[in-house]
Amino acid sequence: MYDVPLRTPEQAIKTAERHNRKLAQRFPLLADQLDMVGAWTPEKVLEDERRWRAKMDASERRAQERGDMLRSLVAQRLTDQALTDLDAYFRRVLPQNGGYWADFWWQKLKLYWPEMAQQECPWRDKHEAFAKYEPVCRTCGRRLTPLPPDACGGESVGCESNRVAGAGEASRQTGSCKQGGNDDYLSGVWLCGRIR
Ligand SMILES: [Zn+2]
Repeated sequence: MYDVPLRTPEQAIKTAERHNRKLAQRFPLLADQLDMVGAWTPEKVLEDERRWRAKMDASERRAQERGDMLRSLVAQRLTDQALTDLDAYFRRVLPQNGGYWADFWWQKLKLYWPEMAQQECPWRDKHEAFAKYEPVCRTCGRRLTPLPPDACGGESVGCESNRVAGAGEASRQTGSCKQGGNDDYLSGVWLCGRIR
């Protein structure tokens, strides 16, 4: 999957020699027993590289699959044309690899279907543990702790259920938000008081 070619046996010999030369400089007294301090053979260089490449390919495949899965969810919320436009945008603007693919569709899922994003949060198994430190999950925006008794729970303008940009600002300016300005910057969740 990666375009960079694997080392040739000749290159592996050079790599091993270079490594062993450095070891010999570092441990001059062990110069004839370099095996003790981690000398490399060309076979080890090739095998390590092969294993590393297999691991990278597997993780690339996993990211691709997650991106495909997230895209299929986003697709349920958009018109065919909108989806085609997003595909075109991804191809035109972003690096073409699994990591970017998965993140691109994760961001779109959060935007177009936040409830589903919370279900598909990569940290969903940790939400309970996070709750000790954070009121909301910073990745998916899910609320982890109950709202304080004086929070409106979405009734007042700009509170949790209202994700319109600037709405929280409006409630702060009118003084209706008891927790004025106590917004969660990273998740974009506003936490404001009931209008009194
Ligand atoms: Zn989460």
